[in-house]
Amino acid sequence: MSKSFLILGAGMAGLPLAHYVLKHYANQHDLKVTLVSKSSDFYWNIASPRCAIPGQLTDDKTFYSIADAFSKYSSTRFEFVLGTVETWDPDRNTINLVDSYGSKKAIIYHTILVATGSAYANNMPWKLVGSSDDTKTALSRLRQEIQSAKSIVIGGGGPTGVEFAGELAYEYAREGAQKSITLVMSDSLPLPAIVMTATRQAAKKELEKLDVNIIANAKITETPSDQVPGKRMLGITKTDGSKQSLEADLFVPTWGVKFNTGFAPPSMLENDGRLKVTKQLRAPGYENVFAVGDAANLDSYAAAVREAQVRHLAMAFGKYLAEERVPEYKQDDRTTMTVTVGQSRGVGQIGSWNAWSFFIWFFKGRHMCTNIVPDYVAGNTLILGSF
Ligand SMILES: Cc1cc2nc3c(=O)[nH]c(=O)nc-3n(C[C@H](O)[C@H](O)[C@H](O)COP(=O)(O)OP(=O)(O)OC[C@H]3O[C@@H](n4cnc5c(N)ncnc54)[C@H](O)[C@@H]3O)c2cc1C
Repeated sequence: MSKSFLILGAGMAGLPLAHYVLKHYANQHDLKVTLVSKSSDFYWNIASPRCAIPGQLTDDKTFYSIADAFSKYSSTRFEFVLGTVETWDPDRNTINLVDSYGSKKAIIYHTILVATGSAYANNMPWKLVGSSDDTKTALSRLRQEIQSAKSIVIGGGGPTGVEFAGELAYEYAREGAQKSITLVMSDSLPLPAIVMTATRQAAKKELEKLDVNIIANAKITETPSDQVPGKRMLGITKTDGSKQSLEADLFVPTWGVKFNTGFAPPSMLENDGRLKVTKQLRAPGYENVFAVGDAANLDSYAAAVREAQVRHLAMAFGKYLAEERVPEYKQDDRTTMTVTVGQSRGVGQIGSWNAWSFFIWFFKGRHMCTNIVPDYVAGNTLILGSF
C-alpha cells in the first residue's frame, strides 16, 4: 500500500509543495498525496488590496480551482479533500476533518506537512475567509461598501494598510477627491519598524502624493458595533493619551492576523498560535511532521520568506523520503518587503537597498503578480522563478 503524504493547506506554500512531491517523489517512493483545503480555490491574496477596489481585478484573476490544477495526476497518486481540519493527534498520525458535505472523516498519514497559513480578523478578505465562496462574498460586500462611501478610514499602517490606502486613493482621491481616504497608524511612519526609515518615509510621501490623510501615532480604540450603513463615529486614542473622534462612512481594518492552527494540540503551538518548528522545519519530537509558511514559527510571515522555505522543503523531502539526513533551513535575516502605493508607484526594501518606485511597479504594482498565477497554480513557478 502507498504511503500517505498528507498536506494541510493549499495556499502559497502547500500548493506548490504538493505539485513538487507529486512530480519528483510520488512514483519513486510510492506515495499517495492527499491535499486538504477549506477552500476549493487557490486565492492569490497578494492582489487583494486591488481586488477590493470596484471595477479593478476580477475574481477570475485571483481564484483558481485547486481540483483543476491537480487533474493531471493519477487518482492512485493524488486526492484533493475539500474540508476543514478540526483536530490532530500527532501521536496516532491522524487528523479529523469535516468535509464540504458536513461528513466527518479521519485521515491517517505516514508524513504530514502543515501549511494552513493565516487569516485576518473581522473576516476581511486580505486572505481567505473560510471557503472560496465566503471570500468572494466578502470581497463583493467590501466593493459595494466602498462604492457608496464618501469617506473611508483605514485602520493599520502595515503593508496591507498602505497598499489598500494607495489603491483607494489612486482610484478616488487624487485629482478630484471623489472620496476622502484616511489612514490611521500607531507609529509615526507607515510599515513595520523592521523596515528601513528611508523606505518608511518614502511610503508616507507616496501616500501623501495621492492625497491620503495620515493620522500617525494613533490607534482606533472604538469602532461602531452596528453594521448599519451610514456615518460611523470612530474613537481614536493618540500616543500621548489624548482622544478624538473621527466620522466616516466606512471603516476598514487591515490588522489582526491569526494563524490557522486551532486544530493542533496546544503543546505544539507558540503563544502567538504558530506551530513550533526546528531548523529542519519539523515539529519538535515528531520526525514525520513538517510545517511551513505563515503557520510555522520561523521567519516573518511573508511570501518572500515562505518561498525560501518552500524551495528548502522541496529539496529536503527528497532526503527525508530516502531516509537520509534532513538538512537544516538557513534563515535569511535580510529584510525584503515590496509594497505598492497605487497602480503606478511603490516602495520597498530588498536587503539594504531602498528600492526604486519603478522597480516595485515593474515587478509587482502593474499587475500585482497576477501574470504568474496560472503557472504558480500549475506548479511551474514560484514568485521568484521556476520551480
Ligand atoms: C494583502 C496582502 C498582501 C501580501 N503581499 C505580499 C507580497 O507582496 N509579498 C510577500 O512576500 N508576501 C505577501 N503577503 C503575505 C503572503 O500572503 C503570505 O505569507 C502567504 O499567503 C502565506 O502562505 P501559506 O501557504 O503559509 O498560507 P495561506 O496562503 O494562508 O494558505 C492557507 C491554506 O490553508 C487552508 N486552511 C486553513 N485552515 C484550514 C483548516 N483548518 N483545514 C483545512 N484547510 C485549512 C486554506 O484554505 C489555504 O488553502 C501578503 C499578505 C497580505 C494579507
